Amino acid sequence: QIIEGAGVLDVRTTKTRGDVLPRVSSVTTACGESIKANSVVNCGGIWARQLGEKSDVVIPNQAAEHYYLITESFKEVDPSWPVVEDSSKCVYIRPEGGGLMLGLFETMGASWNETGIPDSFSFGEINADFDRMMPYLEEAMLRAPITLEVGAKHFFCGPESFTPDGSPSVGESADVKNYYVAAGLNSIGILTGGGIGKVLAEWIRDGCAPSDVDVTAIDASRFQNYQNNRQYRADRVGEALGNTYATHYPDKPVKTCRGARRSAIHERLVGRNAYFRDVSGWESPSWYCPE
Ligand SMILES: Cc1cc2nc3c(=O)[nH]c(=O)nc-3n(C[C@H](O)[C@H](O)[C@H](O)COP(=O)(O)OP(=O)(O)OC[C@H]3O[C@@H](n4cnc5c(N)ncnc54)[C@H](O)[C@@H]3O)c2cc1C
Repeated sequence: QIIEGAGVLDVRTTKTRGDVLPRVSSVTTACGESIKANSVVNCGGIWARQLGEKSDVVIPNQAAEHYYLITESFKEVDPSWPVVEDSSKCVYIRPEGGGLMLGLFETMGASWNETGIPDSFSFGEINADFDRMMPYLEEAMLRAPITLEVGAKHFFCGPESFTPDGSPSVGESADVKNYYVAAGLNSIGILTGGGIGKVLAEWIRDGCAPSDVDVTAIDASRFQNYQNNRQYRADRVGEALGNTYATHYPDKPVKTCRGARRSAIHERLVGRNAYFRDVSGWESPSWYCPE
């Protein structure tokens, strides 16, 4: 049964003798109902972190500003044109409503509402930061010069949630048994939603991740409590969005939120000219510079 318009206020858990972790028992809805549940899936989009926190489940997603421009219609546009991406100009371009859509993934994004997303926000638009985005927009429009001639119909800014490492948060949480997550879709949720749904359905059915899919990079249990920190989320989300069109290579180090965790011998390693990388938040020596 699907019940629409009934917000989930809380996911209740229970822990009996012998259980290592609490397990899901029921959900409470805004209609005042308590619904018995063996498993739940938190797919609450930009609200997923807040709902997770109520059950001590770590989902460190953070909303960021995400932009696209829609041009006026013009006759040359063919709706069958494919999506074209030019990551060097931070833009993807596709037909939309008789004109073109220019979607932007700027090199450093901006966090939106890290204190919490209002329950009442839905399909909303947020104020565009024209000063910050204009250099990106100009470059993007120069990539498809006809957009400069036909003009802009709408410059849209909406929030989308990003995870600290830019991969989605999928699967059973490390904190509560049978509490599943499908959130943090990093602005490609329409593209990836079908696959994520299939993987998660099989995960719940079998009680373990599907054997034919390597879920290491998307496993919701990889996130830890220190990443739920408000400052951490605010600082990291800009880099996570910026990485969408950045050059990726193995062991690419993160730049933001460094020093979240330091070992007792950190200063000694610094004294030996260590260069560090982030390993689960720990500053870990990557290599040493000779004297
Ligand atoms: C400007 C913009 C352009 C984009 N363009 C693309 C694109 O071209 N291609 C692409 O693949 N993706 C795109 N995306 C991203 C895509 O829209 C998202 O990744 C996707 O919608 C996320 O899906 P979701 O199910 O995680 O979250 P949502 O679609 O936000 O759904 C979450 C739902 O959970 C509900 N909810 C939250 N809390 C509760 C609660 N406590 N109880 C009950 N319900 C709750 C919300 O009301 C909402 O309906 C774009 C996003 C933006 C902002």
